[in-house]
Amino acid sequence: MKRFILIHYGEIGLKKANISYFVDKLKKRLRFVLQKEFKINYSIKHTLGRFLVSLPDDFNEADEKRYAEILFRVFGIQNFKFVYQHGVELDALLDSIWENLPDNVLNGDLKPRTFRVAVKRSMPLPFKSTELEREIGARLLRRGIGIKVKMVDPELVVDLEFFNDHSYFSFKKYKGAGGLSPNSQGRFVSLISSGIDSPVASYMMMRRGARVLFVHFHAYPFSDKSEMENVKKIVEILSDYQFDTKLYLVPFGKFQKSISTNLDIPSKIRTVIYRRLMVRIAERIARNEHAKGLITGDSLGQVASQTPENMFAIHDASTIPMFYPLIGFDKDETVALAEKIGTFDISKLPCTDTCAMFMPEHPELKANIYDVREYEKALPLNEWIDGVLKESEVINLK
Ligand code: ATP
Ligand code: MG
Repeated sequence: MKRFILIHYGEIGLKKANISYFVDKLKKRLRFVLQKEFKINYSIKHTLGRFLVSLPDDFNEADEKRYAEILFRVFGIQNFKFVYQHGVELDALLDSIWENLPDNVLNGDLKPRTFRVAVKRSMPLPFKSTELEREIGARLLRRGIGIKVKMVDPELVVDLEFFNDHSYFSFKKYKGAGGLSPNSQGRFVSLISSGIDSPVASYMMMRRGARVLFVHFHAYPFSDKSEMENVKKIVEILSDYQFDTKLYLVPFGKFQKSISTNLDIPSKIRTVIYRRLMVRIAERIARNEHAKGLITGDSLGQVASQTPENMFAIHDASTIPMFYPLIGFDKDETVALAEKIGTFDISKLPCTDTCAMFMPEHPELKANIYDVREYEKALPLNEWIDGVLKESEVINLK
């Protein structure tokens, strides 16, 4: 029997005039990830607000898991199902549903205790959706499915969609990653450490359609390479969500050393000055890469550099927009997301944190922008920014 993946998108469906832009981007992404993994050509049809992806004839339950793993990482998808295609004639349809019920439904220890039928109809039929649900449910009971009907939270949902003169049925609906089509919002530069927050911030922006390039500032050779190595692993995980990924590894230790030994700069303001320099270098990269803004993992009030005053003082160094997708997140919410994405296990590993090096003991909590601008006059910032990219390593991931 012909199998398909039936995909529903979420917010993209609310777009009006430019919906085809988002649909095309999502279609391109689906084709790319599936072909990359399975090395076959797929027919991907967009019809009536859904995608239908044809599955190979030898598709089986074991493949379902592999496909799901891939689709969980495609932004823009609200849900997906591995459906059987059938005609709309009810008797034959019932036979087919019965034959294809999951093994555990009619026998086995893991038999579900409750079920319901869910129908969605996008074509004219002699029955309403609710009438169909009742009729198909009643017939399954008569055939001896042997479990009770439960409308709310049943253990099994017999899911049916009717459109384009066909029915499509399945027994499991997977929740997608949500968000907007990959690469629908252009490029952004994410300042990434191996901490918990910035990988999650990058993910949040990718989810909204950003194509993210990464920049990491490291203190090697003043520190070891442990943080850099962790950042590479994190970026590799995140690169599964987009087409290609670039990581800039920028040597930053000599600037920190120079700032921390400059007698004109009070030690408590150092952190803000380091951060402003990071922002300036990231902006230079963004301009070279035609990116539209910077991303950081700041969350309001989480640490000294994230008070509103200090965030303002840091943002002041940028002439392009800065985005802080975690600004209103609690730490435990960020951790939960990091666990889901798979970056948490790396972020929690010990490493020499670049930012913790050359740190003042008592950082300023309320930096004054005018003072900070004055202190910076003691530093050859332009020379540093002009020179540092030549010393940076760029890693490309496909
Ligand atoms: P994270 O968990 O992302 O490391 P954090 O809670 O440690 O964040 P800070 O150290 O104040 O907070 O860093 C704030 C933001 O500055 C980070 O989320 C990240 O975007 C950026 N950042 C910090 N250190 C670096 C670095 N070494 N390279 C690039 N970006 C950095
Ligand atoms: Mg950190």
